[in-house]
Parts: sequence; structure tokens; C-alpha cells
Amino acid sequence: MASKLLRAVILGPPGSGKGTVCQMIAQNFGFQHLSSGHFLRENIRAKTEVGNMAKQYIQKGLLVPDHVITRLMMSELEKRREQHWLLDGFPRTLVQAEALDRICELDLVISLHIPFETLKDRLSRRWIHPPSGRVYNLEFNPPHVHGIDDITGEPLVQQEDDKPEAVAARLRQYKVVAKPVIDLYKRRGVLHQFSGTETNKIWPYVHMLISNKIVTVESKEAYRACPME
Ligand code: ATP
Ligand code: MG
Repeated sequence: MASKLLRAVILGPPGSGKGTVCQMIAQNFGFQHLSSGHFLRENIRAKTEVGNMAKQYIQKGLLVPDHVITRLMMSELEKRREQHWLLDGFPRTLVQAEALDRICELDLVISLHIPFETLKDRLSRRWIHPPSGRVYNLEFNPPHVHGIDDITGEPLVQQEDDKPEAVAARLRQYKVVAKPVIDLYKRRGVLHQFSGTETNKIWPYVHMLISNKIVTVESKEAYRACPME
């Protein structure tokens, strides 16, 4: 008996560790991880019509228009009818969520809820040395001396986008746009929120949720396949 194909979405602000959780879900449960940012970058590289249009928005730090991203994602989903999938980065707006609604029924939506201060910290950790283009990350590859380039001893700077004020503005924008999407899924009863500051601590709960979901869906399917006389 073929088990039902699971349709999942992950929501979370920039810096929430969404990418990491998606990778873990894909590896552990065999979901196809479908990232809108990835498809857009692929189209930009291939210089497709969609890619050329999207590039103009992304470069300005804007969201790609709903009808463009929706058409792109619908065609990618169409190619993957026979697989479990997990959407990342889509839907980002209510219009996109409603479009997705028209083509499928979601089994679960995972929403990562990370304290604002943690996100701001994580996203503000990038410092660069403009003359050489060297990039440091205070968490993964910090400079030997805070604020100083290892090679030249010159000062490091933060790009406008990585400064705490800019980061805070990006996070606020996410909140405004995501709220109606989160509310929609809450009303549907498919939303599962996970809170915490560390991905490794959130993961066991996400793992449990998906394992349970797979069991529930499969037993329902089995019931349907052999109904009682
Ligand atoms: P995150 O940290 O959440 O991944 P990001 O800014 O890196 O944030 P990506 O998902 O990698 O976002 O996408 C890159 C860019 O592509 C976004 O900044 C946005 O301009 C555009 N984009 C991606 N998905 C969508 C979407 N669903 N609707 C509109 N624009 C989108
Ligand atoms: Mg990204």
C-alpha cells in the first residue's frame, strides 16, 4: 500500500535556523526540501525570464511579487507530485498561502519562534574588511582581536544590512507579513509552534511531531484501505 504523501511547510524569521531544521527533516524523513530562495537563485543563474525579473527585486531587498513566486513554486510542486515535500520560504504572504491552499491540503506547518534578541544577535554577527573583502562571523570565524582584521590590523565594519537597526527592521517586516499566514494555519489546526534559542534543543520535538504525523497518516490510510464490513 502506498502511504499518503505528506505536505509540510516551515515558517520562521531570518536567522531562525530554518535551513538547518529543513536539512535535518529531509535527511531523517526523506522529504524533498523545496526552498523558494534556492529556486529563485537557480533561475537567476540560468537567466530565465523569472530569474531576470526576480533579480531586480532581490537586489533591492524586496520580496518578489506574489504572482511571480507563486507561478514558479506551482510549477516546481507539479513536478513533485509523488514525493513528500517540505516548503521553505514559501508561502511568505497571505496571497501566496491562499494560492497554495487551492492546490493542496497541508498536513503540517512548523513555525519556529525564536526570541527577537537572539535573532538580532545572530544576524548582526557578520563583520567585513572592505579593502580585501574578508568576511568574519563572530560565531563561526571570529577575528583574533574584536573589530580588527587579522591580516592588516585595520578596522572591520558592518554592512548596512547587518547593522542591528537594519536587522531589527527586517525582523519587524517579517512579523507583519507572516502574521496573517500564521493565523490562517492556526485556524486550520495544522500549525505547530516551537520556541527556543537553540536548533539542537528544538529538533527532538520536531522529530517527534513528524514521526507521530507519519504514523497517524499511515494508520488512517490503512483504515481507509480496508474499511470494516
Ligand atoms: P532566510 O534567512 O529566511 O532564508 P533570505 O532573505 O535568505 O531569508 P531566501 O529564502 O533565501 O531569503 O530568499 C532570497 C530572496 O528571495 C528573499 O529575500 C526575497 O527577496 C525572495 N523570496 C524568496 N521567497 C520568496 C517568497 N515566497 N515571496 C517573495 N519573495 C521571495
Ligand atoms: Mg536564505
